[in-house]
Amino acid sequence: MSAWQADILMYHSISDAPGPTSIAPEVFKAQMQALADSGLPVVTPDALANPPAPRVVIISFDDGFEDFADTAWPILRDHNFTPIVYLPSGRMGGSDSWAGGNIPTRPLMDWDRIETLAGEGVCFGAHSVSHPDLSTLDAEALEEEVTGSGQDIAARLGQPVRHFAPPYGASNSSVLRQIALHYDTSVGTRLGVAGPKDDIHDLPRLEMFYFTDIARWQAHLAGRGGPYLAARKMMRGLRSGLSKVLPLN
Ligand SMILES: [Zn+2]
Repeated sequence: MSAWQADILMYHSISDAPGPTSIAPEVFKAQMQALADSGLPVVTPDALANPPAPRVVIISFDDGFEDFADTAWPILRDHNFTPIVYLPSGRMGGSDSWAGGNIPTRPLMDWDRIETLAGEGVCFGAHSVSHPDLSTLDAEALEEEVTGSGQDIAARLGQPVRHFAPPYGASNSSVLRQIALHYDTSVGTRLGVAGPKDDIHDLPRLEMFYFTDIARWQAHLAGRGGPYLAARKMMRGLRSGLSKVLPLN
């Protein structure tokens, strides 16, 4: 398909905790209701090889927090939305005690819960083994983190893992090459709507912290979000040029 657009929503934690990587449950619920009202098809990254409509939506979660199972999944299931959750395979059952994680740390789902969710239809992708900055690793460690994480999850769930998200959105040409060897798609933290001009292994996403105002989210869904997104992109560009003040994990 020559012209397509994928709005890939990026979430981390769904909770009332402070900080840009948490979305309050009531806000998440309203965002999902607006998405349902829009009538846009919600798909998983599996559909990007042959999108079923000119515009599709993917709902993604990084890290696999327990609040995904407790809070987000019941809301998603009510709408028949299938999300993808990117897991740091060596951390599951523990917490986000990595650089840039929440303080205090938050619990991550254990494998029993993940297996149950997989049985209920949730799609799982890989998010490295230990949640390092992949752009800092040597070739051997890079292969273990990128390839090993998908193998771990596939072995646990008995199904192939085709999608990846590098921690912090941090990548370089070696990282992207290693990801492309083993996965069909990968998503970063660059802000934007994905389309055919993007590298399928370095797709942009929509940081949903920017869309907690539901009227603004509805405008985006209705195709009137261009100016807001452009302004946000410009502000992010300025900020990353000055300093790394907001690490998005
Ligand atoms: Zn992460």
